[in-house]
Amino acid sequence: MTILIESNLPEWMTAAQIRDVVRPLIGDDAPLHIYPDDPGELDKVEMLLCTQLLPGLAAKLPNLKLVQKLGAGVETMAANPELPAGVRVCRLRSDSCSSEMAEFCLAFVLRDHKQIRHYAADQASKTWNPIEPPITADVTVGVLGLGFIGGLVAKLMGMIGFRVLGWSRSAKSIEGVDARFGEDALMPMLAECDYVCSVLPSTPGTRGLMNAKTLSAMKPGSTFINVGRGDLFDEDALLTALNTGRPAHAVLDVMSQEPLPADHPLWSHPGVTLTPHVSGWHMEGGFEDVAENWLRLQSGEPLLNEVNRSAGY
Ligand code: NDP
Repeated sequence: MTILIESNLPEWMTAAQIRDVVRPLIGDDAPLHIYPDDPGELDKVEMLLCTQLLPGLAAKLPNLKLVQKLGAGVETMAANPELPAGVRVCRLRSDSCSSEMAEFCLAFVLRDHKQIRHYAADQASKTWNPIEPPITADVTVGVLGLGFIGGLVAKLMGMIGFRVLGWSRSAKSIEGVDARFGEDALMPMLAECDYVCSVLPSTPGTRGLMNAKTLSAMKPGSTFINVGRGDLFDEDALLTALNTGRPAHAVLDVMSQEPLPADHPLWSHPGVTLTPHVSGWHMEGGFEDVAENWLRLQSGEPLLNEVNRSAGY
């Protein structure tokens, strides 16, 4: 039984760096290889640790049992036809990553709630122009996706004192959150929100969910913050919607195509703030689960953070 590590995100961590973090957690004896530099015998690989599923790699691993995603989004694995149905998929859940993403959403909600962009522009033109700030309890923040990360985003917004609405596939009970669920609940909820933070995974049910119809339900002047996946929104529809002010601003950490091409209109639209997929970065705690899953795979115990491949997350 061998573990193979592959990373196509060297700017995050190279395969060798991942190996150096995992090695002490699984012990010196566990056979651990990195692809492509030191692949070992590929027919012995039972567990693949990777950031994305490299096209063609699964076909070289006839005894693969588990793909352990080094991250939370599993859209390149869950429904990937290259991955035989019997291969299991697990993702990471890291408290540091979920905290970072909640902080990111809060930072951009507060940026406009506290009119920071407005006062920066006034300072640049030496203009003294005080504006009454909105009362926090009168401001509604909606959170799309109430899972491990979205649930924390919603709780944090509630702790600050915002009115918080949440939306997920199944019913949820989260203290301080008016949690709604199912397709029919989405548009009425969007109409109530001053800020919408999306922390949805990329699945057949979420791709293109924010389109001309749903964006038109958003409140005039609202802000759309997307930290889930870029294929959630229709880019043309969002650019058109921004021109009508519903929403008035979009904060996009994730794009359908990453890196975003230099000539893409999202770069230069005045209503868009872009960040390069950085809202959740650190995976502290997550690698311990990788080591635990290695042991569980051998002992046959239930795996940690296993993905429902047919649901796609
Ligand atoms: P979870 O699997 O814990 O939660 C997903 C949530 O989305 C659940 O509440 C689920 O509903 C809801 N959901 C899924 N499909 C639908 C649907 N069709 N309609 C309504 N709700 C739906 O995921 P996490 O919270 O851990 O992570 C969310 C995503 O964040 C990841 O998949 C990843 O893509 C992204 N991410 C981005 C990062 C970045 O740096 N930008 C870093 C880390 C993650 P239910 O609870 O009912 O199942």
